[in-house]
Amino acid sequence: MHYEGNIIRPPSEANSILLQVTVGCSRNKCTFCGAYKGERFRIKADTVIMDDIAFAAAHCQRQRRLFLCDGDALIVPQKRLLSILQEIKRQLPWVTRVGAYANCKSLKMKTLEELQTLKAHGLGILYMGLETGDDITLKQINKGATSQEMIQMGKKVKTSGIKLSITVLLGIAGPLRSNIHARETGRVLTAIDPDYIGALTLMLIPGTPLYRDFKNGEFPVLKADEMLKELKAMIDATELSSGLFHANHASNYLPIKARLPKDKQKTLRLIDEALTGKIALKPEFLRAL
Ligand code: SF4
Repeated sequence: MHYEGNIIRPPSEANSILLQVTVGCSRNKCTFCGAYKGERFRIKADTVIMDDIAFAAAHCQRQRRLFLCDGDALIVPQKRLLSILQEIKRQLPWVTRVGAYANCKSLKMKTLEELQTLKAHGLGILYMGLETGDDITLKQINKGATSQEMIQMGKKVKTSGIKLSITVLLGIAGPLRSNIHARETGRVLTAIDPDYIGALTLMLIPGTPLYRDFKNGEFPVLKADEMLKELKAMIDATELSSGLFHANHASNYLPIKARLPKDKQKTLRLIDEALTGKIALKPEFLRAL
């Protein structure tokens, strides 16, 4: 397979075939994100992508899922994306689900009908980084979208029938807006009602604008108990029809896996127990991206 730069995929795609169709991220401006810094965004040549599909057909016959890398593969124009999905279906008939990252920008460029067509051709799940539902924080981190736009795009994915997984970022608003960030994120998650939510804990990446703010003393980082209080307020404010709320990424202090609304009260009690010291938190040295 031809890989260039950093290859990043969601934890749930750990066993998937990783097919890189773009290099970098078309936005690449979020202040906390170091994933593709220094990478000039481009869509890879069709010949390279088709070569990789042929390679996967020969060597990846046990993998049932495929993930389209990099940052926002959904930005690939509809006709090209369809031809990639068709080729995957033709050469890798054992693949049962194709996934990709999507951001607000790439979702705005696809109509509902286009998403439905992609779904019919095998696109089964999209991963969208919301980070926060707080408009002031969204602006501060230069996410390039308002909470209203996030809600509209998230709902469009849901209506298309493609599964939606949303990532939120604990600690991204700092201590002063922590509670607002938690409540507002719950509001947006409730409005979208995604299938999966992944809450990650902010890790500062050297070279990013947020890291510089931290070094200059302009961005204080939440302590472990403040992160947990934020997580608790966020879960408390989130009403889903039957989504799964995960906070079990390696960067998190307390692993959580809750089906909402069923497990809500149990989960809130678990966080309370961690806050009162009845459950041990993951030590700092064991946290990693
Ligand atoms: S849209 Fe996602 S991948 Fe791109 S810069 Fe922002 S956080 Fe990073």
